[in-house]
Amino acid sequence: MLEVCAIASGSNANCYYVGNSNSAVLIDAGISHRQLIKRMNERGLDSGKIKAVFISHEHSDHIRGVRVLSKKLNVPVYITAKTYMASYKNMQPDNPRFFEAGDTIEAGELRVHTFLKNHDASEPCSFRVEYNGKNVGILTDIGEPCNNVTSHLSLCNVLFLESNYDENMLQNGSYPYFLKERVASSQGHLSNVQAFELLDKHAGEHLKCVFLSHLSADNNTPELALETHSPLMYRFDVKLTFRTGPAEVCVL
Ligand SMILES: [Zn+2]
Ligand SMILES: [Zn+2]
Repeated sequence: MLEVCAIASGSNANCYYVGNSNSAVLIDAGISHRQLIKRMNERGLDSGKIKAVFISHEHSDHIRGVRVLSKKLNVPVYITAKTYMASYKNMQPDNPRFFEAGDTIEAGELRVHTFLKNHDASEPCSFRVEYNGKNVGILTDIGEPCNNVTSHLSLCNVLFLESNYDENMLQNGSYPYFLKERVASSQGHLSNVQAFELLDKHAGEHLKCVFLSHLSADNNTPELALETHSPLMYRFDVKLTFRTGPAEVCVL
């Protein structure tokens, strides 16, 4: 049994839970310890099982809460040395365990595969969590898909996949030109259409559910994201994640 849940997902804060009956990991910690516990309780998830927190990159929506949260949970924080050095001092965890992108790390009974991706951070990583032949991918903050992303994605049974922006909303929205360029660049974020194309080409037969993740508050709507992915819904479930509360728990 594997339970997965987006505790928080969006351009403001990210935190994803993957756990079996004895062990769990958190991927990213963009929320406070208080919010984490509140949202886990809402979904009947036990924070006592958490063995480690993994940090994907230094942007504050992924790391803001990690210092306090890891201390209160009394768990190690896996982070690359470059990401650690690039983080604001007040967000750097007290108990870092440095990994190299490409390492596989055992956390309790779970195996966490780490890999590099394209994003405008010092050493951006993503993760695939494996247990008992089941795989969960956490793929957000991706400018354009690389071989690492496509090969790990194709192994997954459940995915948290970035569907950050609608192209028209971004281009016609209020962001300054440089920011529009940044979001749409190969080091920025995946649009709804890019996420759709990635899934259409690379999703495996065994993919059961995709949670559309890291939606922009300014340049996307949940309805547009869902609509873009609707042609895929005969192959697997497509569900939303939320900025202000936990998503549905998916059990594998
Ligand atoms: Zn982000
Ligand atoms: Zn980012």
